[in-house]
Amino acid sequence: MSLDLSAVIADITATMASMEDRGQVATYIPELATIDPAQFGIAIATADGRMLTGGDADTGFSIQSVSKVFALTLALGKVGDQLWDRVGREPSGNAFNSITQLEHEQGIPRNPFINAGAIVVADVNLGGHEPRVAIGEMLRFVRYLAGDDSIAINEAVAASETATGFRNMALANYMRAFDNVRHPAELVLGSYIHQCAIEMSCRQLALAGRYLMLDGRHPGGGRVISPRRARRINALMLTCGHYDASGDFAFRVGIPGKSGVGGGILAIVPGRAAIAVWSPGLNASGNSCLGTLALEELARRTGWSVFSPPEDRG
Ligand code: GLU
Repeated sequence: MSLDLSAVIADITATMASMEDRGQVATYIPELATIDPAQFGIAIATADGRMLTGGDADTGFSIQSVSKVFALTLALGKVGDQLWDRVGREPSGNAFNSITQLEHEQGIPRNPFINAGAIVVADVNLGGHEPRVAIGEMLRFVRYLAGDDSIAINEAVAASETATGFRNMALANYMRAFDNVRHPAELVLGSYIHQCAIEMSCRQLALAGRYLMLDGRHPGGGRVISPRRARRINALMLTCGHYDASGDFAFRVGIPGKSGVGGGILAIVPGRAAIAVWSPGLNASGNSCLGTLALEELARRTGWSVFSPPEDRG
């Protein structure tokens, strides 16, 4: 029997609407604390070109750490595998903004998806330019991926994080001491914070993630990244995409995903689908509470898993 994806999405959206425990919105970036937690959206872009949505799929939210996937893609395009001299590829098992781990590891962050790693990636993407040039490039890249020129930065969120991002500033300065951040910390942070403050809806995010389900191809033609790199980014999303709950996400959901403290998650079913879910309330690990539950249910209902034989995937 063929899979009725629209019915599955409608069911999941209804189930999520009835959930009482929605987690807590992030408060350490004051602007994020103002978001109404009673929201849930889901969008699925399929490999055969369909788009299916449910709930608040067209409401914009702060993509925050999901931007680290796009920033990593850009940085690999600029410096290739040399990036791995400056950033590791291991899950951290620590909080996303841990400074102690960085001390033990001599200023080389564990992976590009914890804050320290993403700050090194932002340093690479800065490449001697002013932050506004790097931010402009990032915005153009995300618009090209999604095929949507309306995607923009939420300046209020960027200003809010600029006023409170002391810990990230400390990480950047600390890595500067190891020469693993090469531009002044305030320039790198300016670029990093603005990339995190890009606002997208689930629909736009699912569209932007399609290249990762298509082995690096842009659905409109041409190539965003090589197949090998696309697979490696997916591998990093699976192993490092959910802070120190990455193992649990792989266990429960079984597909690569990257979450952000704005409550969004981009998840990839290679060859099948790019999925974006959003609900602003976070669980204790900082991942969207309903977003994770929705993906778990979606994976269960569809059979989508990178660990199942292709013929069992709906
Ligand atoms: N801009 C946020 C920070 O650096 C991103 C964190 C996240 O989404 O994990 O704290």
